[in-house]
Amino acid sequence: MIVGGGLAGHRAAKALADDGFGGKITLVGDEPHYPYDRPPLSKKRLSGEIDDDACAYALDGLDEVEWRLGVAAKRLDLERRRVVLVDGAEIEYDGLVIATGRAARRWPNLPAIEGFHTLRSLDDCHALAAAATPGKRVVIVGGGFIGCEVAATLRGLGVDQVTIVELADQVLGPVGSEAGVRAAAVHRGNGVDVRSGVSVAGFDGQDRVEAVRLSDGEALAAEVVLLALGSVPNSEWLADCGLELAAGAVLCDEYCFAVGADDVVAAGDIAAWPLSDKHGVVSIEHWTNARDMGPTAARNLVAPPADRKPYTSVPTFWSDQYDLKIKSCGFVKGADRLTIVDEDPEKNALVVEAHRGDTLVGAITINRNRALLGYRRKLEEELSS
Ligand SMILES: Cc1cc2nc3c(=O)[nH]c(=O)nc-3n(C[C@H](O)[C@H](O)[C@H](O)COP(=O)(O)OP(=O)(O)OC[C@H]3O[C@@H](n4cnc5c(N)ncnc54)[C@H](O)[C@@H]3O)c2cc1C
Repeated sequence: MIVGGGLAGHRAAKALADDGFGGKITLVGDEPHYPYDRPPLSKKRLSGEIDDDACAYALDGLDEVEWRLGVAAKRLDLERRRVVLVDGAEIEYDGLVIATGRAARRWPNLPAIEGFHTLRSLDDCHALAAAATPGKRVVIVGGGFIGCEVAATLRGLGVDQVTIVELADQVLGPVGSEAGVRAAAVHRGNGVDVRSGVSVAGFDGQDRVEAVRLSDGEALAAEVVLLALGSVPNSEWLADCGLELAAGAVLCDEYCFAVGADDVVAAGDIAAWPLSDKHGVVSIEHWTNARDMGPTAARNLVAPPADRKPYTSVPTFWSDQYDLKIKSCGFVKGADRLTIVDEDPEKNALVVEAHRGDTLVGAITINRNRALLGYRRKLEEELSS
């Protein structure tokens, strides 16, 4: 049984089907849609350049899967090996893949008025695309990747008043200030009002949001507010089931098995696992991680113990904003030093190395894809040595 019909769940089902797994596969997903790709939701799907069908994952080879879509898992009974769904159904399993991903973080005590959006699902994308049209004033709270990508996409659509409000001194915090400063300059050059180092104090409006109040006293008029505040693991349904959670993510061993259960694995954004002695327990919210971890987790679940393979992977991430191809690999968050080793301002190109002590732990590039591949190879060799 697979719970979660996103990338990790889809790839888990596909790996089993491709391997000729003879058992029954049931996939439970709370969205009404078959699995689809999320990265375009802030980029080409939001812009309308591609349609929903182009975001859908191929279902070939998955004819035998029983799809239970549009219904959430409510509770896990580890002892009886059952998942209870919100519609009251109970599904028994021999092996379970947890792939419920993450949800957009909510603003606490948000006023119950119209105009607020988050962006995690296809339905969110449709709602945002319908609301954030030219002529509307859009405020994006949070200058992380999703906030910045949406700003770039909306400017490309001709939405002329787009403001990003970011609490930190710089946007794109996870890739460090060097890339963040340059990305902010490109956003400003493209007409986005980037406000960093300032927080949101509240929202004004009767039935609809009318303004975003900042901590410095200013009020930004807005008809549309995107709350891009990061994410939280979808693990409410696992509360008190006996599985160990690490900051809400399912704590696994290096084979993706949930700690304390020999018939449950987890994969993708919902999983936390010990990557190596050096890096400790990590939880990675990158597309490539869900793509690779889903198959490893599913294969280990059905393999005899001696054939299980540890999951090791160098995190890699990309983001597209205007003509910027921002990429990172490794563990930039764990760095104590970022060094620019190459820059070409005319091409908006940049290469930054991330070190902890004397050790290279990651790299960030803008418009320098080939350089990133080299760093990734180096980090992979180190991880496997
Ligand atoms: C707008 C956007 C843009 C992104 N862009 C990039 C990018 O450019 N580069 C990059 O590397 N990464 C990007 N990501 C991140 C990437 O998409 C995720 O890392 C990836 O989707 C994780 O896959 P997953 O299967 O673990 O989780 P998800 O894709 O979140 O899928 C989990 C599924 O489980 C469902 N679910 C949750 N709870 C339950 C329940 N109780 N019962 C049943 N089903 C449940 C969810 O609704 C969802 O359908 C982006 C994400 C978003 C939202």
